[in-house]
Amino acid sequence: MSELLTKMMPKEWGFATQAIHGDGTRVADGTGSLVPPIYQTSTFVFENVEQGARRFSGLEEGYAYTRLGNPTVQLLEEKIASLEGADSALAFGSGMAAISAVLLGMVKTGDHVLCSRSLYGCTFGLLKLMEERYQVEVSLIEMSDEETVRRAIRPNTTLIYLETPANPTLELIDLKMVSKVAKEKGICTAVDNTFLSPYLQRPIELGCDIVIHSATKYIGGHGDVVAGVIAGSHDMMQQIQITTQKDLGGILAPMDAFLLLRGLKTLALRMEQHNRSAQLVAEFLESHPLVSRVYYPGLSSFPQHELAKKQMDGFGGVIAFELTGGYEAAVHMLNRLKLCGLAVSLGDVDTLIQHPASMTHSGVPREERWKMGISDGLVRLSVGIEEVEDIMEDLRQAMEK
Ligand SMILES: *Cc1c(COP(=O)(O)O)cnc(C)c1O
Repeated sequence: MSELLTKMMPKEWGFATQAIHGDGTRVADGTGSLVPPIYQTSTFVFENVEQGARRFSGLEEGYAYTRLGNPTVQLLEEKIASLEGADSALAFGSGMAAISAVLLGMVKTGDHVLCSRSLYGCTFGLLKLMEERYQVEVSLIEMSDEETVRRAIRPNTTLIYLETPANPTLELIDLKMVSKVAKEKGICTAVDNTFLSPYLQRPIELGCDIVIHSATKYIGGHGDVVAGVIAGSHDMMQQIQITTQKDLGGILAPMDAFLLLRGLKTLALRMEQHNRSAQLVAEFLESHPLVSRVYYPGLSSFPQHELAKKQMDGFGGVIAFELTGGYEAAVHMLNRLKLCGLAVSLGDVDTLIQHPASMTHSGVPREERWKMGISDGLVRLSVGIEEVEDIMEDLRQAMEK
């Protein structure tokens, strides 16, 4: 099932140049428009019946109906594929539409899906539903070493599903190690790369098969669109397109594709600032007496700091931390912030902060939450690109008040 991908991001252009000028930049409509138009149309007119027939049979390239393909959305797909170093990509109306298209497109009744132990709350919910309704076997394990991964593989394992860094604990998984084991056994590996964006981590270059993003986060970057993308080999993307993308129908709107194309032009710049500011905020939190623990891959106290340096091109903008006063202190602080927005989501230019136990992970039973390493007092902070001193001052006044 797995196919080795050899195509890499062209080396002659760096990432930031590729994001602005590379594949998926312009449509050949003869106008020379610098910025692509938003093809806000549901359908496309055929010249005659014969042409319509050719379009539907695939004998002729072109468009037929926006759920099956739209020029603005296709540009975004080309851009994502090139930035992830993949053959091909598909866009969806949300991160969960992308995740469900992958899970329902790749897994059937009786299969076993092996997952990393910390999963996005709704991904966990969908896997539970597949377990209960469709007799799919699901197991969540700590993928800390090769032996543990090998032991957890069953004869019917068809998919390894990972999040690294994990939400919200930032636990990392060695993608080279897992993809090597998976390849040996012919198992497909899918990675949710939302927390880093292709600027900081490209799982396909590390041997994984499918990359998934909630494009709502860093790819969009401005908190104005909900979207998802996936990237991988032509064969896998085509399989998912003609099955779950087309038939479940969770497609991306042309206007939203336009917003994501715009967001991608500044991705490199934004990620550099997220990296710098989050490092400073993490160091500030670690040195604060009211903070008991900080989880950030860029701290030398982070247990997987070495793996982070090896596998990622930067440590990202998300931090998790616990206060010495636990749950009560976390609530007290969150209710006193002035600048940081008390909101779920992450990866925006705005700093956002949330409380997983009462918000994003409230649907996960407490015991399961604990197994994922999410204590009741844990706070998740997505550091934005405001002046970093202002962010730190806001956290300080809210904690100390
Ligand atoms: C937000 C998020 C999702 C879900 O994406 P939506 O765009 O909200 O549907 C999936 N995985 C991770 C890691 C996320 O942060």
